Amino acid sequence: MPSMIRRRALVTGGAGFIGSHVCERLLKENYEVICLDNFYSGNKENIRHLLQNTHFEVVRQDIADPYFAEVDVIYNFACAASPIHYQKHPIQTLRASVSGAINMLEIVRHRPETIMLQASTSEVYGDPKVHPQREDYLGNVNSLGPRACYDEGKRCAETLCYDYHRQYDVQVKIARIFNTYGPRMLPHDGRAVSNFIVQALKGEDITIYGDGSQTRSFCFHTDTINAFLKLVETPADFIGPINIGNPHEITIGELAESIIRLTGSKSKLIKMPLPQDDPTRRCPDITLAKKQLQWEPKVPLEEGLKETIAYFKLVLGS
Ligand code: UDP
Repeated sequence: MPSMIRRRALVTGGAGFIGSHVCERLLKENYEVICLDNFYSGNKENIRHLLQNTHFEVVRQDIADPYFAEVDVIYNFACAASPIHYQKHPIQTLRASVSGAINMLEIVRHRPETIMLQASTSEVYGDPKVHPQREDYLGNVNSLGPRACYDEGKRCAETLCYDYHRQYDVQVKIARIFNTYGPRMLPHDGRAVSNFIVQALKGEDITIYGDGSQTRSFCFHTDTINAFLKLVETPADFIGPINIGNPHEITIGELAESIIRLTGSKSKLIKMPLPQDDPTRRCPDITLAKKQLQWEPKVPLEEGLKETIAYFKLVLGS
């Protein structure tokens, strides 16, 4: 008879955009899931449909406070990820990344069989001088700027993962996640994808920061999560970091035009000042992910945007 023992997962930031999709996917993969969230940028609506599942538990807690759970795998996602959220409470952002990583690594230290996936970010490359970004590029981050609380917090979390691994031989995997989009992004998150869709659906002006020539590479959440599941299965000596993102690079102006076309909106583009330290180009080199995970994104931007637009139509009742 097949074993009925379920593996247990802890998903921090489990009520957020990516975290809630991870919870849902892990439940489908027969895990018991603990979702830990302080609901700062997490949203109860994202997990409401999971609450009836007896294999799903919610813990309301700040990741920066000590926590322990007997789990087989930790997906450490807890941290506000959109510039407006993480810049509003920068010290809280740093504590979530740094104290949060220590708290999770302490669990792994006491349970050597537990694997931790650390959500890092393309922001560790700052405003990159090397293009596309490979994992061995050390980055160009302004440690004093308004984005530093997120960028440096995540960089420190990577350092902690490596130091815990070196000192205590814990099992960690560092995923550098590039721009990810899809249903359950917050409508007022301030991100390009969510702002443009909401503005287009409401017939409001589309706010282009700068001249719209800055680039990003957008990955649909299902592709991103497929990579996470493969990453936790890699051999114990594989720590990363590993870029998880879509190498299809577009300008922010092009993104806005696509969203206007797909929504059939009459919105006009307006130019607004470019935020300080806003990266001018960003695109992952995913050679390592292709080799190590046999993974690459499958969902074309237009298809993912259509699904995201349908979600926002529901949320906005339009
Ligand atoms: N952006 C924009 N208008 C908006 C929101 C964002 O032009 O209403 C730009 C932003 O300045 C950045 C890019 O879109 O250059 C992506 O921003 P987002 O916040 O989505 O992601 P991140 O900057 O964290 O990569």
